[in-house]
Amino acid sequence: MRIGIDLGGHTITMASLDNDLEICEILDLDTPPSRKLEDVAGVLENNMLYLLHGKDCEGIGIGIPGMMDRKRETVYKLPNFPGWEGIEVPRVLGEIMDLPVYMENDANCYALGEMYKGLGRGVGDFIVFTLGSGIGGGIISEGRLLIGSHGMAGELGHIATGGGSLCGCGATGHLETESGADGLERKAREKGFQPFVPSLWEDRKVADMGDLWDNAFDTLARAICSCIHILDPELIILGGGMSQAKGLLEDISPFIERYLVPSFLGKVGIRVSKLGNRAAVIGAASIVPGAH
Ligand SMILES: [Zn+2]
Repeated sequence: MRIGIDLGGHTITMASLDNDLEICEILDLDTPPSRKLEDVAGVLENNMLYLLHGKDCEGIGIGIPGMMDRKRETVYKLPNFPGWEGIEVPRVLGEIMDLPVYMENDANCYALGEMYKGLGRGVGDFIVFTLGSGIGGGIISEGRLLIGSHGMAGELGHIATGGGSLCGCGATGHLETESGADGLERKAREKGFQPFVPSLWEDRKVADMGDLWDNAFDTLARAICSCIHILDPELIILGGGMSQAKGLLEDISPFIERYLVPSFLGKVGIRVSKLGNRAAVIGAASIVPGAH
């Protein structure tokens, strides 16, 4: 058995999985409002015993929404979790939980989950965009997760698409400020609309609303097409909460066709994840050595 954890700002998804990465039990837990490491550890500890049912556990894999060093020992940047930066999270959590703990970026975990159990099975080269409050990314190249020379590859939400809005990372004009849910809600508020993405999506055909989504899709399509042109993948997978909006793929397709080099048309599949939030916990569990 192994434990996979997807740490989010509002929800911690935690699951027990067997060594074939099949989920045995899965829990959606509230993230402690403080978001402090010791409080998060408390939630994990409280639910471990229930998930394991007395069975042996080989380790814990945790996906975190931020950047870390190449060795996956120290957190560099975790914008929404105060006090985690510079902390050796696997070591600290491992001491508290009394088990080996392994860490990976949450969107990279999502991509690994898709590789083992989702649309990415048997696909050597694919790219995942996780569309949520922000936008995450994971790149699988020749069957392996691409992590780059400093461990920070695949930060697709921070593709510089312009627009001038300040990003949570501290820089300006990044994809997630235009096309992430938080960015969309901020723009809706400025236009006097109710800043709630599900209702914004329902009302997207309202005339004044049009350019809100057009801008979000146009920006996302530029980022997707740039990634296709750089990496020539077989498949783009759209994951995260916003990807499940009915009709999203149909609405974004014309924008992608506008920006894609015609030679790629019909060669790259663009699909919506079927695993949903389970992808990240499966991927997180997969980084514990000895799976499958
Ligand atoms: Zn950014």
